[in-house]
Amino acid sequence: MTVPFAEAVNVSKHFTTEPDFAEKIAIRLGAASPRRTVHALDGVDLSIAKGEVVGLVGESGCGKSTLGRVIAGMLPATEGEVKLNGQSRASLSGKAARHARLNTQIIFQDPMSSLNPRKKVTEIIGEAPLAHGLIRRGEKEALVTRLLETVGLDPSMRDRYPHQFSGGQRQRLGIARALAVNPQFLVCDESIAALDISIQAQVLNLFIRLKDEFDLTYLFISHDLSVVHHISDRVVIMYLGRIVESGPTAAIFAEPNHPYTAALLSEVPRIDRRHRAFSPVKGEIPSPLAPPPGCHFHPRCPFAMDRCRTERPALRDLGARRHSACHLNDMGERPRFTQTDTMGV
Ligand code: SF4
Repeated sequence: MTVPFAEAVNVSKHFTTEPDFAEKIAIRLGAASPRRTVHALDGVDLSIAKGEVVGLVGESGCGKSTLGRVIAGMLPATEGEVKLNGQSRASLSGKAARHARLNTQIIFQDPMSSLNPRKKVTEIIGEAPLAHGLIRRGEKEALVTRLLETVGLDPSMRDRYPHQFSGGQRQRLGIARALAVNPQFLVCDESIAALDISIQAQVLNLFIRLKDEFDLTYLFISHDLSVVHHISDRVVIMYLGRIVESGPTAAIFAEPNHPYTAALLSEVPRIDRRHRAFSPVKGEIPSPLAPPPGCHFHPRCPFAMDRCRTERPALRDLGARRHSACHLNDMGERPRFTQTDTMGV
């Protein structure tokens, strides 16, 4: 069996909330500490093959960005581990840990927040490869020129500052900076969400071209199904800290297995309402401070049974590289989704 390129193994991530001002006063007066635990990730397994583009989707607050950061090594897992080429990331040290860090780059939604406003483009792109000994000082200009051309920017812009670029150009700068350290793996966290729709298409096409040119692997995190459909080989759907369904993009879009996926797909943007987010799924996503027991989706699911309220459904292998976590898969004849069912969620 081929060893996955990147793998999350039973990863959980919990955050403890800090008391607010009123709670701090209550604590001083003798009340018990109201610290609560946010269950951002709850036993997530995800493997990504070399050269694969995995689209990770779900509503805001489902844990997809946290999973991206844990896989990218920006956040430690509370439980479980991340493996790179079969080796635990936590076990790496020295040169191997540094190589793993450089090998995975993350591209954020807002490039302005990750580009140093006081540095010129030459420094922003050329600093890291120089600092890590990937190039010599005399090679920096040539590298910056080549990378600016690669991402579709005029190399004569190398002496400008980030605020002198448009949003789309800044995202291209962020991509050039990521490529400067020769990564094999890009975690793209809502990387085109903040751009105008016409620019989104251009940057998405840039990602597609760079994948082949640099032999990259992507974890593409997005709340926008049309984006995921366009770029991903495989789609992974998250709900409240858990993966509920995964499979090849075409198969998931043609015939979703999980009621939540079906609800999302019933709202796949049509040509007249492209790039719509997931808000049309009825009902609020419950708070990760107190996720519902059993299947987290049961309060919104039109097919919920007694079992769903108490027993967590396992992520089952359905064959053809598809997985789904729904008790309906244990029934002899599972219901087929209709537009009315899913829209009623
Ligand atoms: Fe709905 Fe039950 Fe399936 Fe959860 S396990 S999605 S509640 S049918």
